[in-house]
Amino acid sequence: MDPLKGLPEATVIRDPAALEPWLRDESHVRGVLPLAVVKPHGPAALRELVKRAKGEGFGLVPRGAGTGKAGGCVPTPRTVVVDLSEWPGTIALSPRDLCLSAPASAPLREVKAAAEAAGLFYPPDPNSWESCALGGTLATNAGGPNACKYGMTRHWVLAVDALMDDGGIHRFGIDGVKANAGPNLAQLLVGSEGIFGFLVGATLRLLPQPREHTTLLLPARRWEDLLELPGRLGAAGFLPSAFEFFDPAVLAELRAHGPEAARRLPGEALAILEFDERGCSAEPFLADLLDLLGPLADGLEVASEGRQRENIWALRRLTSAFLKERHPEKVSEDIVVPRSRLPEFFAGLERLAIPAVTYGHLGDGNLHVNLLAAGATEPEALEAQLLALFRLALSLGGALSGEHGIGLAKRKAFLALTDPAQLQTLRAIKKALDPANIFNPGKVI
Ligand SMILES: Cc1cc2nc3c(=O)[nH]c(=O)nc-3n(C[C@H](O)[C@H](O)[C@H](O)COP(=O)(O)OP(=O)(O)OC[C@H]3O[C@@H](n4cnc5c(N)ncnc54)[C@H](O)[C@@H]3O)c2cc1C
Repeated sequence: MDPLKGLPEATVIRDPAALEPWLRDESHVRGVLPLAVVKPHGPAALRELVKRAKGEGFGLVPRGAGTGKAGGCVPTPRTVVVDLSEWPGTIALSPRDLCLSAPASAPLREVKAAAEAAGLFYPPDPNSWESCALGGTLATNAGGPNACKYGMTRHWVLAVDALMDDGGIHRFGIDGVKANAGPNLAQLLVGSEGIFGFLVGATLRLLPQPREHTTLLLPARRWEDLLELPGRLGAAGFLPSAFEFFDPAVLAELRAHGPEAARRLPGEALAILEFDERGCSAEPFLADLLDLLGPLADGLEVASEGRQRENIWALRRLTSAFLKERHPEKVSEDIVVPRSRLPEFFAGLERLAIPAVTYGHLGDGNLHVNLLAAGATEPEALEAQLLALFRLALSLGGALSGEHGIGLAKRKAFLALTDPAQLQTLRAIKKALDPANIFNPGKVI
């Protein structure tokens, strides 16, 4: 019997030929054919899906816009993909409460634009912000360039509406910053990658929009000098709102094969630094900063006007897609180490002789280490390289993932390298919240 027959409030796609787009996300992982893809349009669909998943023994894989980089939304055996892109709801601003509520289906760019239209600011800015959905950013606790000053998505979530194991949608948290009536269950769900339930909406905290920005394009003659800079800036009282970088190999690729604007890029390595506090475009601030940068300031380009800043950022935003187009079978990791350990990390990477190029978020130690030749590497050798990379990050007090999450892509390494007591705790929580293991089975743990 068809387990999805007569499902209310939903579009159901069953034709195997039509299911192809849901087998992948933006990682290197490919899923198996799901039983179906369901696009729910209301709570009755979700309630019924939970009931039938338990009754018929299939799993439910939540999906936002499919831009994830850990294979978290790809189907595992005997699952239904629940594509939340048509989940109903609108973005509602509450400027007096400095917050906004939105459905999981809201594109992140619309959430950010709605805040901006009211002179407010929703900081989370994964580089996929023009294509990902709010629900996916909540489920992965997405970060981005701004995280070095403003933190990750979770720092901006006040409350979530979540579909839980009883088939009901429940609200966790309140529309306010102060809430201490027991442990914060909303925060347990943020970043849980769909394994405890589905997030169908959230209330997000906002700030007044920063009115001033200064963006610096900073070429480094000696790449090692950049690695000390995040720590030096912090110690001198500078907190950039973004600090991104390209290592010598990525810069060389961009220069040789990137768009016209990239061909003229100077330096052995390159950084983009941005400040957004009041006074950051004025002479005294810049003078102090130049003082601190010393010889690193040679060749510096300063932009405080919109278009110039946009041109600098365009370069950063195209990097992921550019590398993927040139090296379709590359594997991209996103380890993180404390900022003060960056020089040790790169020394370790060189010692391990892992053939990798790196770019990403230098300001918070979150590095996109790309193994460009992964497709041509024997699977066992590739696995050994990845494990060595993860062990290096862990040995320096870091983690396997700074922002993309575990999903399917990093599950094996996560299980192998994580403290058993922590895994046991996670399994106990999973069992309590999802005893039938219907929510995103086979992911994370
Ligand atoms: C070019 C590019 C740049 C990127 N840059 C960044 C970056 O700077 N920072 C960063 O953090 N990430 C980045 N990413 C990764 C990705 O875009 C983000 O993780 C994003 O948050 C995923 O959103 P999505 O809607 O596409 O989620 P999906 O890919 O659809 O899903 C991601 C995970 O969340 C789960 N999920 C999705 N929706 C829900 C829901 N409503 N309820 C419960 N679980 C759900 C899925 O099952 C899956 O495990 C980038 C990706 C690309 C392609």
